Parts: sequence; structure tokens; C-alpha cells
Amino acid sequence: MKKINEIFYSLQGEGFFTGTPAVFVRFSGCNLKCGFCDTFHEDGRMMSDREIVEEVCKYPCRTVVLTGGEPGLWVDEALLCLLHEAGKYICIETNGTQELPEGIDWVTCSPKEGAELRVKRVDEIKIVYTGQDVSPYLGTPASRHFLQPCSCKNTEEVVEYIKKHPQWRLSLQTHKLIRIP
Ligand code: SF4
Repeated sequence: MKKINEIFYSLQGEGFFTGTPAVFVRFSGCNLKCGFCDTFHEDGRMMSDREIVEEVCKYPCRTVVLTGGEPGLWVDEALLCLLHEAGKYICIETNGTQELPEGIDWVTCSPKEGAELRVKRVDEIKIVYTGQDVSPYLGTPASRHFLQPCSCKNTEEVVEYIKKHPQWRLSLQTHKLIRIP
């Protein structure tokens, strides 16, 4: 059983897959307490893997995004297996502090200052930029590196930083800009 905060269908608002439809499975709880955390993830109900997959399969798209909170506290091979059997492409949005099971198709890591990275494979680094030193994360073997304004408040600062450090790309929380979940 896994504690699920919500399962909903929307468009991916951030990062590499911006604009693509996805079913979001938001797991409950996180091991970090970031000051800028904008998700309400503590509540939830216990669901079996089959119940989660049944709910995900009510929607027509192939992509499922495992998010949170911190999904790495919950995700295991049994759930990944059932999602793959259902034909799903599995993405995860993790803070990188947990080792993840094999078999996830796309790993988005949003490392947080001072938190040790234990994730082994990363496809996309996506950092909420608040002026911290992000240069060490360019060494992470990910194929894409995104910086994102904090709740759309410091976009100009992020744009200026990227112009000076062109290895980074801009990620906007487009779902907030167009007011969808
Ligand atoms: S890691 Fe993410 S979910 Fe956890 S507290 Fe920080 S911003 Fe919130």
C-alpha cells in the first residue's frame, strides 16, 4: 500500500516535457522541508498498486509522472512493473535524496541545497533558483539542466543568470501561468 495525496490529469508544466499531457500521481509526504515548497502533499489515502494503476488508466495518455512530496519514499519495482504492463511511460520528479528502483523511464531531479544526492541516474536536472550556487550540479551526468524561477517571482534574475551561464535552460511553471492544476 502506498499513501497517495492525489491523482490527476493535466499537462506537464515544467522542464523538458512542458506542454505534454500526463497523469500525475502525487505521493504523500517528503523527507525535506523546503521554505519555498508550494505543494500540499501531507494528506493522503492508502492505495494498493492495482488501485493506483486503475486510476491512472482512466485517462487516455501514456505518460505518468510520479511526484510528491518525495515519490522516492514510496516507489518500488512492483508498482513500476504494473505501470509498464499497462503500457505507461514512467517519469519521476525527485529531490534526489533516495535511491530509486530500476526501470523508471525518465528521472527529473530537483536537488535541494545541503541535501546529499543518492539518485544514481538522472535525465534532467531542474533547480528552483533562489541565488544559490548551482554550478556543482552542472557536473551531474544529466543530459539537460534547467533553472526555474521560484513561484514565478524572480524570472528576470534567472534569465540574467542563464545569459551569463548558457549551459542552463529556462524552465517556467507554465501551469501556473495559464492557471491549470
Ligand atoms: S523536496 Fe520538494 S516536496 Fe519536498 S519539501 Fe522540498 S519542495 Fe517540497
